Amino acid sequence: MTNPTRICIIGGGIIGASIAFHLSEAGCSNITIVERTNIACGASGRAGGFLAKNWRTGAEGKFSESSFLAHNELAERLKNEFSTDVLYRRLTTYNLSVDEITDKTKKSNDSTSLPKWITANVHQQEILGNEDTTAQVHPGLLTNALVKIVENRGGRVVIGKANGFLFETITTHTEKDEHHQTSPIRAVKLLIEDQDPIEADIFILTMGPWTYQAAPWFRDAMVFKENISHQLDAISGVKAHSIVFKGNQPTEPYAFFLAYQSNDGKVLDPEIYPRSNGDIYVCGFAEQQSQNLVDSGNSVPIDEKSCDHLRQIAVQISSTLKDANVEIKQACYLPQSNDGNPLIGRLYGLNNVYIATGHSCWGILNSLATGAQLTQLILKGEMSPFLKQCDPARFFRRTTTQK
Ligand SMILES: Cc1cc2nc3c(=O)[nH]c(=O)nc-3n(C[C@H](O)[C@H](O)[C@H](O)COP(=O)(O)OP(=O)(O)OC[C@H]3O[C@@H](n4cnc5c(N)ncnc54)[C@H](O)[C@@H]3O)c2cc1C
Repeated sequence: MTNPTRICIIGGGIIGASIAFHLSEAGCSNITIVERTNIACGASGRAGGFLAKNWRTGAEGKFSESSFLAHNELAERLKNEFSTDVLYRRLTTYNLSVDEITDKTKKSNDSTSLPKWITANVHQQEILGNEDTTAQVHPGLLTNALVKIVENRGGRVVIGKANGFLFETITTHTEKDEHHQTSPIRAVKLLIEDQDPIEADIFILTMGPWTYQAAPWFRDAMVFKENISHQLDAISGVKAHSIVFKGNQPTEPYAFFLAYQSNDGKVLDPEIYPRSNGDIYVCGFAEQQSQNLVDSGNSVPIDEKSCDHLRQIAVQISSTLKDANVEIKQACYLPQSNDGNPLIGRLYGLNNVYIATGHSCWGILNSLATGAQLTQLILKGEMSPFLKQCDPARFFRRTTTQK
């Protein structure tokens, strides 16, 4: 049966796309995704797409494992039911210790377990995962595929910049609600720059690293006695570069995490992922963390030197890349919370505004569990142990004494 609840999701990255998809699976068809630039313009279109089953522990470990298994199932469904290939496959994953070359006479790697095209002098190697525990997916293809399904089921994408809410106070609500206290305030409309506002019953903020930009939407609303906006201020962006070598590169199912000792004494940790379509994706190191991000995911400034450095490292790992074309040089921001855990749940103090962000370097992996579990919370009020850890209320601060 279709659920008539009007849902408005702000942000068209993998988290917004997955939530939209899971809500549509549960029968919601009246879904609007508001995206400022284009679907997957941020980290969700520029990530590696590496997935690990058991690299986390405790409640988070269970959450990640369920998401890892869901990726496998979903990729098969996308292929069989929707004729969509998101380049999902299982991998063997290595950690390789390599020094920046100073001694040209060093012989190349002669380990038989590594593929032949790894030509660097690897002085230590460790298997981090096998085809039961590690995998990859193309994050941009996945995000777009999920949004397309939601659109085909009656949802829509609005390209526009969300910039506030209209709120109303609920005077009849007196009961204690399930996971917080009384929530007398609800959002009724999302304001969008130069466009008509969107009315909805449920709003979900999935603006990734830009979530802090929504803090003033709540701070400025005179109805609030409490500082709801601290929950959003807890998010910022960490910049990272990546490059993609295109076409006819080695495609074997491996992923490489490097411990790269550079000549200046620093140990860098780039990652190299061949994809089944002949691309080789290489991403770099976390750079500065900031709440001063450029507005569009397509305009994040690219530092040529950082990209050249990634290329140089990749060529050292595999000399077959020496003449290969770097077709994509890009930078994006990963969403980071102040305590390292995502924020997933209802915003403290509001009746119908939810948030899902702060997934840091595991947003692609954890997107499916996030979508599934937030759907459970919204439609059934159920919270898993990890969702309790992710409650945004942990960043809530009272600023006035209640009467
Ligand atoms: C280099 C790199 C490699 C990574 N590799 C991996 C990996 O291998 N595996 C993994 O699991 N994770 C990886 N990650 C992490 C992952 O990419 C992120 O956690 C994930 O993409 C975050 O998704 P998101 O939807 O929260 O944010 P985003 O992808 O940033 O999406 C947020 C969206 O909100 C939109 N938006 C913002 N403000 C507004 C507004 N006011 N109005 C309308 N729309 C708005 C933006 O335009 C954007 O499209 C990597 C990250 C980086 C940077």
